[in-house]
Amino acid sequence: MSRLLIPRRRLPLTGLLLLLSSAMLWLIMNWAERTELARLQAAGSHRLEIYAGSLRNTVSRYSYLPRVLALNQEVRDLLAHPQDPTLQARANRYLETINQEAGSASLFVLDIDGTAIASSNWREAGSYIGNHYTFRPYYQQARVGRPGRFYGIGTTTGQAGYFLSLPIYQQRALIGIAVVKVSLDALEASWKAGAEQVLVADHQHIVFLATDTRLKMRALQPVPPAVQSVIRDSRQYTATHFPALPVHIDRPVDVNTAVWQLSDANGQTQQFLTQRLPLPEFDWQMLLLTDAASARRASHAALYAGVPTLAAIYFGLFAYLQRRRRIRDNLAAKALLEQANNVLEQKVADRTQDLQQINQALSDEIRVRQHAEAELHATQNELIQAAKLAVLGQMAAGITHELNQPLAAMRTLTDNAQTLLARQQSAAVQSNLNLIANLTDRMGRITSQLRSFARRGGDDARPVSLQASLSAALMLLDQRIRQQQVDIDMILPRDDYWVVFEPIKLEQVLINLLRNALDALQGRADPRIVIRTQVHETQITLMLQDNGPGIESNHLPRLFDPFFSTKRDHDSMGLGLSISLAIAHEFGAELTAGNLPEGGACFSLILQASPQKEATHA
Ligand code: ADP
Repeated sequence: MSRLLIPRRRLPLTGLLLLLSSAMLWLIMNWAERTELARLQAAGSHRLEIYAGSLRNTVSRYSYLPRVLALNQEVRDLLAHPQDPTLQARANRYLETINQEAGSASLFVLDIDGTAIASSNWREAGSYIGNHYTFRPYYQQARVGRPGRFYGIGTTTGQAGYFLSLPIYQQRALIGIAVVKVSLDALEASWKAGAEQVLVADHQHIVFLATDTRLKMRALQPVPPAVQSVIRDSRQYTATHFPALPVHIDRPVDVNTAVWQLSDANGQTQQFLTQRLPLPEFDWQMLLLTDAASARRASHAALYAGVPTLAAIYFGLFAYLQRRRRIRDNLAAKALLEQANNVLEQKVADRTQDLQQINQALSDEIRVRQHAEAELHATQNELIQAAKLAVLGQMAAGITHELNQPLAAMRTLTDNAQTLLARQQSAAVQSNLNLIANLTDRMGRITSQLRSFARRGGDDARPVSLQASLSAALMLLDQRIRQQQVDIDMILPRDDYWVVFEPIKLEQVLINLLRNALDALQGRADPRIVIRTQVHETQITLMLQDNGPGIESNHLPRLFDPFFSTKRDHDSMGLGLSISLAIAHEFGAELTAGNLPEGGACFSLILQASPQKEATHA
C-alpha cells in the first residue's frame, strides 16, 4: 500500500486547515469583489445622476411648448373655427416654425374630440392632420383637464417619442389640446458613447430606451395580460409581447443595486453591476449597467495574491512547528538519554554490587577451599602415615625374621666364641666377633631404614638420588624379595640420576610400587621385576615392570582411587597407589599404570630432573 503524503493522524488537522484556508480565501475574494463593486457603485451612482439629468433636461427643454401653443392666438383662432382652411394653414405654419426653432419632433393641436387639426408636419406624407388620437393617454389626460405625459411609438410616423400635452381653455371651457412630441433618439444615441449601458423602463417595467437595442421592448418583470391589452389599446408600442430581459440576477446588493449576468446574442454571459434610479416625475426608472468584470478580476487577483500569501504563512507555520517539534524531540531524546544513563548507572551500580557479592562469595569459597585443602593435606599426611604404618605392620613379620636371623646367628657365634675362647683359639674368636659386628651393622641398617620410613616426611623438595632411593626401598623389601625368589633386573645407567623430591616420600612411593609388584608375583613361577629409566629433556621416567597377571582393563580407571583394592587380605587397604599419586603430584611428578604387551603390569613414575646434584640422601 502506498504511503500517504500526510500522516493519517494529521488528516483531520490538515482538513481543518484546508477548510479554514478555503474560507479565508473566499472571504478575501469576496471582500475584494465587494470593494470593487462598491467603487463601481459609487462611480455608477454619479453617472446615473448625470444620465437622469440629461433625460430631465431633454424633456424639460420642451415642456414649455404646449403652453406656448395654448396661448398662441393663431392656434386659438383655429380652435374657434376648425373648418377654416386659412386659419388652419396659418396655424400649421406657426407650428412648423416653432417646431423648427425649438428642435422638437413635432407639434400638433387636437380638437376636443381628439382629431389633429393642425400640425408642424402638415407638409409631410405622414401628417397628423385629420388623425384621431382619442386612444392616446396624453389626449385622455388632457381631456380631463390635466397635462398629459406619454411615451410611445408614433402611430402615423412609427417614430418613438415623448408626448407632452396641455388642455387649451377658452373662458374655462376646453376647446382643444396642444401636444409636443419630443424625440429621445439623440439622447439615446449620446448615451451609446459611454462605456456602460443605460436602460429606461416605463411604469409597466418595459424597457423603451436602451443603449443596446437588443434590450429594447424587453420587460424587467413579466407583463400581465391586462397590461398588455392596455398597451395594445393605447398603441403605445408596436410590439404586443414583451419578453423578459436575458438576465440572471446574481445577487442583490441593495434595494436599487444588483449584480446581473447578462447574456449577449451569442449566449455568452457578462457580469454587470446594475443600479436603478426611479424617475418619479415620469413614473419611469433608469437602469445603469456597469461592466463588473473588474470586480471579478479583483476577486481573482485576491485569489492569486492570497494563495501564495497563505502558502507562505503555512510554510512559515509549518517550519515553525517543525522547529518546535525538533526542539521538543531533542529535549525528549536528551531526557531519554539521561533516563537511560540513570538506568545504566543504576545497572552498573547493581552489577557492581552483584560482583562485589560474588567476589565476597568467591573469597569465602576460596577460604573454604583453602581450609579444605589444608585439611586434605593434613588428611593425606595422616593417610601416608597410616599407610606407612600398614606397610610396617605387613613388614613386621619379615623384619622380625630379618632381625631374628642375625640374632640367632649372633647367638650361635657368641656361644661358639665362648667355646673357642675356652679353647684359647683367639683367632677363631676374632673371626666370630667380626661376623657378629657385620651382623650388628646389618641389623642397624634395617632398623635405621625402618625408622626413616616411619618418620613423617617433610614437604621440602630437594635433589634426591634416584638410585639411592631405589636401593633403600629394595633393601627394606629385601626379605620378601628373597622369600619369593623374585629376580630384580635393574637396567640403570652408570651415572646416578638426581630428581626433585623429598627422599622419604620418594622411597615410600617406590616401596608401594615394589610391594604391589611383589603381591602380583605371589605364587608365580619365575617371578621377575624389571626396573629401567628413560630420560626425556628435563624428565626422568622410572619404569617398574613385572611379569605378574597385569591389571584388568576395567580396573585401570579406578586403580588410583583411594580404597580400591582387589586383594583379599586385611592389610590391603587400597591406599597405596592413591597416596603414591598424591605424593607424586606434590612434587610435580606423574604416576601412570598400564599393562605390558607380553603380560604383566608396568608403572611409570615421571620425575622432574634436578639440575643440581647433591648427596643429601640419608
Ligand atoms: P592394595 O595394595 O592395598 O590393594 P594399592 O592401591 O596399592 O592397594 O593397589 C590397588 C590395586 O592395584 C591392587 O589391589 C591391585 O589389584 C592393583 N595392582 C597394583 N599393582 C599391581 C601390579 N603390579 N600388578 C597387578 N595389579 C596391581
